[in-house]
Amino acid sequence: MATRPGPGVTLDAFTDRYAQRTHGMTASEIRALFAVASRPEVVSLAGGMPNLSALPLDAVGKLTGELISSRGAQALQYGSGQGDPHLRELICDVMALEGIEASSEDVVVTVGSQQALDLVTRVFIDPGDVVLAEAPSYVGALGTFAAFQAEVVHVAMDDEGLVPEALREAIAAVKAAGKKAKFLYTVPNFHNPAGVSLVESRRDEVLAICEEAGLLVLEDNPYGLLGFDAPPTRAIRARGTDASGRSDSVLYLGSFSKTFAPGLRVGWVLAPHAVREKLVLAAEAAVLCPPQLNQMLVADYLSTQDWQGQVAAFRSMSRERRDARLEALAQLMPAGTTWTHPTGGFYVWVTLPGELDSKLLLPRAVTARVAFVPGTAFYADGTGRNHLRLSYCYPEPERIREGVRRLSTVLDEEVELRATFGATGPGRASRRQAESPSPDMA
Ligand code: PMP
Repeated sequence: MATRPGPGVTLDAFTDRYAQRTHGMTASEIRALFAVASRPEVVSLAGGMPNLSALPLDAVGKLTGELISSRGAQALQYGSGQGDPHLRELICDVMALEGIEASSEDVVVTVGSQQALDLVTRVFIDPGDVVLAEAPSYVGALGTFAAFQAEVVHVAMDDEGLVPEALREAIAAVKAAGKKAKFLYTVPNFHNPAGVSLVESRRDEVLAICEEAGLLVLEDNPYGLLGFDAPPTRAIRARGTDASGRSDSVLYLGSFSKTFAPGLRVGWVLAPHAVREKLVLAAEAAVLCPPQLNQMLVADYLSTQDWQGQVAAFRSMSRERRDARLEALAQLMPAGTTWTHPTGGFYVWVTLPGELDSKLLLPRAVTARVAFVPGTAFYADGTGRNHLRLSYCYPEPERIREGVRRLSTVLDEEVELRATFGATGPGRASRRQAESPSPDMA
């Protein structure tokens, strides 16, 4: 007689049949909490969702209607595996804002830059290959690297981004261990989750170190146009040492998710010419072609609307929220807490005092009706418990202040408990595989 698993136990009858690579795919244990966190009474400081209230929805609706009625037979048809040629041209104009000179021949349109991460990893990584990645790193990239059985070696960052000396040391350590590093994964602008940017003076050096070691650079840049105080910094892809003044060692990832709308799932990868073809083959095997309707809508939006004015509106919304966040943190966080001071993007990275463990505190925070992402989500090695990521992109400034107030109450209680009774729980730092992100964490 078949027996049902007891409470809390899940039996998967397929366990013996799954491919090896699925062993690295684990659902986040904090996913369940995010289901609770999405209730309206909870202030979520967790998600990386852009606030779309400033989008001209009527104009976008009109564009969509016109697109379908005038070019519907093309928009609703299969398209090129590499992506719509017109959109690829416009993407080159977008990248030119960061100093990149590119041919649309070398652009592959993807289903969000998340698919670009998947394609690049699929094309370059064999099980056991090493990926160098900042400490901390974007949770969605860690999930992809785990799915392809890469070993992630973290490289330290400071307030000026990735530390070149730490990169040199990591490359030497990987080599000494007889392992093969394939690429450096970096988010140089308004880092997710760290909220810092790679300063201009380090960019050439980081590229030179990678080139000397024969490493590719995977430059993931969804936030580059979202700086509050200054024009965009020249991309790593815009630098380089060959005759054309650019590097063939950089694969650049872009996205319309944070500058237009994530629901359209339109991103891209700019790759060296030879790599481009492999990426297209991998993309065709996965999705045949990216959604034609969405690509044409993005192309129409870019060519008929003041999209840069729109991005400026997004920036000023985010700046106001960033200010509210930093002000509230300064007023309310317990002594010993530190945080980054982002000049763009969506995220503040908080370091808790002493042995405070953000993962253990999350259930209490959710009970207090505030959510954040614990630091452990952003490390492949189980570390990061004394950090947490707070996003400021979505809630209204008043809600942000209230969220920080609720968080500070939980932290204050914990500090007091520890002062009275000592540690309330062990700060375990077990090695674990990357969690797959819920959309709220990404
Ligand atoms: N890279 C980074 C650093 C991100 O923060 C995100 C989304 N949060 C992505 C890639 C994926 O974005 P999308 O697939 O929506 O383009």
